[in-house]
Amino acid sequence: MKTKRRLTARELDQLSITELQALLASPQHYAHTATRNYGEDDPVREPGRLVYRCKSECPASLKYDHPSAAQLKMSKGVALQAAGAANFVSCVACGREGPPSLREWRAVVDWNYVNAREGRGDLDNFPFFNLAGLPAAEKLERLESIRYDLFVRRTLERKRKEAGEDVGGRFLAKLDAYRGWANVALALVKQGMDEKAPPNIVQGR
Ligand SMILES: [Zn+2]
Repeated sequence: MKTKRRLTARELDQLSITELQALLASPQHYAHTATRNYGEDDPVREPGRLVYRCKSECPASLKYDHPSAAQLKMSKGVALQAAGAANFVSCVACGREGPPSLREWRAVVDWNYVNAREGRGDLDNFPFFNLAGLPAAEKLERLESIRYDLFVRRTLERKRKEAGEDVGGRFLAKLDAYRGWANVALALVKQGMDEKAPPNIVQGR
């Protein structure tokens, strides 16, 4: 049975707009998508309120300034001019600075992802995806299905845009921001699972 198989980025990229629309409308896709109700919060609006505290619990905040050379290295693959200003999270207390981005929400998501991988973040009060109270394995499954659904939708919208159709920039940003937050949540879930597993047991992935 291959009912749960998810297509890779490459496979999705080879599909036409019509095929992607059919995939999204298929009963299989529906059955394997946990939800499209990600909660009331808007991941693009005022993202500065969602910044995680950094190491040693200092409050960090979003700023708009010239990123350092080290920061520019962090934003791999993203075109940022060394001379230009960008958004990034910075901690006045300890001097840590996050990856820079032209988009505020991206700067917050990237900073939070770094912190989530070190176990800082609160899954039970996570602003999106209604995760509170679920066991770790269910959180994982829910988030992976949400992330895949978002990726398929994003691929469709990218192709529509390339075909000259009118695709709203804010809608695209929201899809990307939700996907970024799904990655933050997944990092937190995996971090929590690693902590609970006895050290002599090798993790599956
Ligand atoms: Zn700090």
